[in-house]
Amino acid sequence: MMLCEALLTVFEGVLPPDRYTAEPAALKQNTGDASHHHPALPDLVVYPESTAEVSLIVRTCNEQKIPIVARGAGTSIEGNPIPTAGGVVLNFDRMNRVLAVYPDDLQVVVQAGVRHHDLNDQLAADNLFYVPMLGPNAAVGGILANNAAGYRTVRYGAAKDNVLALEVVLANGDIMRTGSRAIKQSAGYDLTHLIVGSEGTLGIITEATLQLHPKPAAVSAAIAGFTTVEEAADAVVAIKAADLAPTALELLDVSAMQYLSLTDGIDFPIQPTLLMEFSGATEAMLQDRLAHVKQCCDDNEATYVQTGIGELFRDHLWRTRVTIFDVMRRENEGLGYYATDSAVPVSQLPTLIRFAADLLAQSELEGNIVSHAGDGNVHVSIFYRPYQQADAFVVYEKLIDKSLALNGTITGEHGVGIGKVKYMSREHDPVALNLMKTLKRTLDPHNILNPGKVLPMDESAA
Ligand SMILES: Cc1cc2nc3c(=O)[nH]c(=O)nc-3n(C[C@H](O)[C@H](O)[C@H](O)COP(=O)(O)OP(=O)(O)OC[C@H]3O[C@@H](n4cnc5c(N)ncnc54)[C@H](O)[C@@H]3O)c2cc1C
Repeated sequence: MMLCEALLTVFEGVLPPDRYTAEPAALKQNTGDASHHHPALPDLVVYPESTAEVSLIVRTCNEQKIPIVARGAGTSIEGNPIPTAGGVVLNFDRMNRVLAVYPDDLQVVVQAGVRHHDLNDQLAADNLFYVPMLGPNAAVGGILANNAAGYRTVRYGAAKDNVLALEVVLANGDIMRTGSRAIKQSAGYDLTHLIVGSEGTLGIITEATLQLHPKPAAVSAAIAGFTTVEEAADAVVAIKAADLAPTALELLDVSAMQYLSLTDGIDFPIQPTLLMEFSGATEAMLQDRLAHVKQCCDDNEATYVQTGIGELFRDHLWRTRVTIFDVMRRENEGLGYYATDSAVPVSQLPTLIRFAADLLAQSELEGNIVSHAGDGNVHVSIFYRPYQQADAFVVYEKLIDKSLALNGTITGEHGVGIGKVKYMSREHDPVALNLMKTLKRTLDPHNILNPGKVLPMDESAA
């Protein structure tokens, strides 16, 4: 009997019939993500509607040793939700409810399938927002499992900094509650943050208590152009060191600015550029900070600095910025690509950016640099024709090794997925890596939870 037939038999009578399907169209919708990694077909897609159902499904898969991959919106860019070993995709589309809002505590409790933008639409009535600020409408489960971040992380932190408690289904089907609603927590091992960033390999998140933020009363954007990317990066270091608390601090190279300018209404000089945002309680406070920001940029040879950008245009600018990855892919359709996600200490940003710019200039590859510069996170996208793949890969690996040499990490926000598994041993010392494998074996002895991701499959298998 084929696995999908066997699975249909397994779930028959256990779950209501509308909860699972092996229809080809549904399987196809749950194969891939937004990365260059090859999609893979699952054998069955299951749509749970409650934690109890998730528990039942996971317990059943564990007993039958069937791989199970949780799926949010499928917008990852490292192959994180691709069901490479087949089996079951646990699709969270139907667990998308906001369960409780605590405006006085700036907190919300949600099911894991709630989408980020939809959540923020609901929170707008209370003048609150949930922070990661990604481009796509990702699900909270996927955001937490990847420990995602975004252009406002420099001010508000990443996913890990905005979660207080979780409900998690373990591989054996047990339901575990971690954390509490207290903003300080010091009671024992921090299981919440063990699960955050584990990419669905240690447990399945069903509910999360999230930290929210009030919408700031005054917001102002600023843009500065530079002759070189290094000068732009030096200005970033200066702005951070001056404690000017940017809400966003993004760096784009010449090529990225060309893509940005393809959008109607965006018309800035095509040169290395910082896109910035500052927020606070009053306009007066902001004016003072913006004057300092201008000084930091001027001190680093800015060719122009524009401050006081109005709300409508600012929103347009950020919408354009967060979709730049899609624009790049559209403009380079048919080409292969690699995209780095390294992060380094901010003081090392100018060195990494200069290194990346030189590598791209010395190659014949299409490429560009887009950086969440305020937190030292650098995305270099490298596009290649088939005959250039080996060259592109050399550039990609040199950037990974350089980031590690600068005391950085192979991934600041996209997670390890499939693409970075082989670099885990370059980043982590053997003792730490072995402890991760021990944790995986302990929590998931049959290696059913998103197998092959984060840790090398053969070694993490029981
Ligand atoms: C145009 C574009 C821009 C992007 N910008 C950013 C950015 O600025 N910052 C950033 O960090 N990322 C960014 N991303 C990547 C992506 O949006 C994030 O990684 C996001 O967190 C993925 O969420 P998702 O709901 O799509 O998760 P999925 O891709 O569906 O899944 C992600 C991982 O989480 C696991 N998972 C999903 N749900 C659960 C659950 N309930 N329990 C346990 N594990 C689960 C999956 O198995 C998988 O390993 C971008 C992607 C695109 C396409």
